[in-house]
Amino acid sequence: MPQNTVSTGIGLDSMAVRLSMVRKLQAQGISDPMVLSAMGQVERHRFVDTALVNQAYEDTSLPIGLGQTISKPGVVARMLALLLNGAGLKLGRVLEIGTGCGYQAALLSQLASEVYSVERLKGLHEQARAKLRHLRLANLHLLLGDGREGYAAGGPYDGIIAAAGGTDLPQAWLDQLAVGGRLVAPVAQDASQGASQVLMVIDKSPQGLRQTRFEAVHFVPLKSGIG
Ligand code: SAH
Repeated sequence: MPQNTVSTGIGLDSMAVRLSMVRKLQAQGISDPMVLSAMGQVERHRFVDTALVNQAYEDTSLPIGLGQTISKPGVVARMLALLLNGAGLKLGRVLEIGTGCGYQAALLSQLASEVYSVERLKGLHEQARAKLRHLRLANLHLLLGDGREGYAAGGPYDGIIAAAGGTDLPQAWLDQLAVGGRLVAPVAQDASQGASQVLMVIDKSPQGLRQTRFEAVHFVPLKSGIG
């Protein structure tokens, strides 16, 4: 039995725990088969601190260091389902803002042909790189930078997904979204400190941008610059 199976107490039976998480996601209304399949495969427990491994498949957000959190599986699944928009097809190019621990980036790599994920905190960027190395995801590109600027070189994007919420949607994201593309991001309701956030979806068509607001969410703030 490998050492890490003993120390974490989760290793070999993690598939069963993940499938039970997937069933709970279905009960919450997540029906997209591609999202459910990815959530059933990516080992969330490998992305959290060893001390928190036993909570990895509960529907809870968890600290990932440097004051940041990995979102609840339910919220991750909801955002990915919105991004895919029920098309039943893999996306082409996708931009993720806020790599964090790299969990959602690993999911995205199964749902899109190319994924560019930007993180502003060097410590987390490097940690995500180390955690993702063994998965050898050739279509996932991790970048250190201010995600508010997007990543023009990888675009235009069929999907853009943000894991941190600002008071506005940066113009670069709207510019780098392809026509026919969709952006999913938490956005603060107003400009005040700690304002509540909603999930916002922007669809870009030849006629312009269409904005739809969904439920209230709670994400870490979208900050400027590199830390
Ligand atoms: N998707 C991540 C969630 C990480 S939490 C996961 O699966 O773990 C959100 C992340 O957004 C944090 O790591 C935070 O540092 C990062 N972030 C905040 N503002 C940012 C910005 N302007 N550019 C890039 N990353 C940013």
